[in-house]
Amino acid sequence: MDFDLSKEQEMVRKEVRRFAASEIAPVAADLDEKETFSIELTRKMGDIGLFGMVVDEEYDGQGMDYLSYIIAVEEIARIDGSQAATIAAGNSLGIGPIYYYGNEAQKKKYLPKLCRGEALWGFGLTEPTAGSDAGGSKTTATPDGSEWVLSGSKIFITNAACELSLGVTVQAVTGTRPNGKPEYTCFLVEHGTPGFKAVPMHKKMVWRASNTAELFFDDVRVPAKNMLGEKGDGFHQMLQTLDAGRLSIAAMGLGGAQGAYELALKYAKQRVQFGQPISKFQAVAFKLADCALEIECARNLIYKACWLRDRERPFAKEAAMAKLYCSEVMGRVVNHAVQVHGGYGLMKEYQVERFYRDQKLLDIGEGTSEVQRIVISRYIGC
Ligand SMILES: Cc1cc2nc3c(=O)[nH]c(=O)nc-3n(C[C@H](O)[C@H](O)[C@H](O)COP(=O)(O)OP(=O)(O)OC[C@H]3O[C@@H](n4cnc5c(N)ncnc54)[C@H](O)[C@@H]3O)c2cc1C
Repeated sequence: MDFDLSKEQEMVRKEVRRFAASEIAPVAADLDEKETFSIELTRKMGDIGLFGMVVDEEYDGQGMDYLSYIIAVEEIARIDGSQAATIAAGNSLGIGPIYYYGNEAQKKKYLPKLCRGEALWGFGLTEPTAGSDAGGSKTTATPDGSEWVLSGSKIFITNAACELSLGVTVQAVTGTRPNGKPEYTCFLVEHGTPGFKAVPMHKKMVWRASNTAELFFDDVRVPAKNMLGEKGDGFHQMLQTLDAGRLSIAAMGLGGAQGAYELALKYAKQRVQFGQPISKFQAVAFKLADCALEIECARNLIYKACWLRDRERPFAKEAAMAKLYCSEVMGRVVNHAVQVHGGYGLMKEYQVERFYRDQKLLDIGEGTSEVQRIVISRYIGC
């Protein structure tokens, strides 16, 4: 067994940590407070190669392994959940389906811009009446000559309604399977297509500086060449995308836990009560020890899942475990971190308050904790 990171992986950690400290940390609280998605910061993240990290260089990607990408998300999340969300959704959900299922023309058309961070692409799965039950989508696509006509709506779609949004992958019903269940196919729908409207969603508790959208498709006509893969492959493509996406949500849990823990440890060493730093009280020290322990376990779990993926071995069970565990570890860590800060932990001036809020999405997005337990229990034969 070799627990050392490669030189390239160490370099990614060092560079992304430096970038997050110098470019994200100074503005994160303000962007969160004002609920502002920053185009400038997104472009900067693109400039240092944070989009298309695992995509081949021929499409302007970085050609790195999955673990390098996960380390990058971890390091951004250590400072700010919103920017980590933009990167994680950009890579796994936006670029992923086009890279893995797109034909050459689609890849050449979209990937270079997406990989350079000049544009963002959305992943349109969730609908108002179909969340965990992704097989209950109602959006339809009907053939009409050489075109398909899409009708329906999507909700909570990341990166889909800002100045940089170029388009979205949409899962739509295209027929009925022999077993009576709906047949799903994915389509690439560009912004500006008549009948397609993207409306930003505001007043979020979490990820306030990330872009979240509600999408409306009112008889939207797309050419047949915008179909992703084969007719009927949509559901499978979406589920496989989520397997990999789960690792980036897990990385956000790990990085967020690490960031909140570091803030709490620093505060505990500085804050004096009863004549000594509160870190000297066993009740506080044990909380921090538990945080350090769980973060270590979480890191080993997610890195192992990435190791499997990088060797093209099955990793879906481990990805579900990592997503569930890292999210819940961050939940326990932010709770301890706020407790260690006492009343100050409830004030926006202290960063842990933001970590506390941002954590909650991780229990819900890309398959809730309950859904992860269903996935894991199926893998273990229940
Ligand atoms: C900020 C944000 C960004 C998002 N980004 C995207 C995106 O880019 N693309 C996208 O497609 N979606 C996105 N989502 C949607 C997200 O994936 C869904 O919110 C999530 O899958 C849960 O669906 P739901 O909200 O409809 O909850 P529901 O599915 O209605 O679940 C409600 C509750 O019921 C529980 N539940 C449901 N079914 C079961 C069951 N069978 N057994 C046990 N418990 C169950 C759930 O675990 C949960 O606790 C985003 C959401 C948010 C908030």
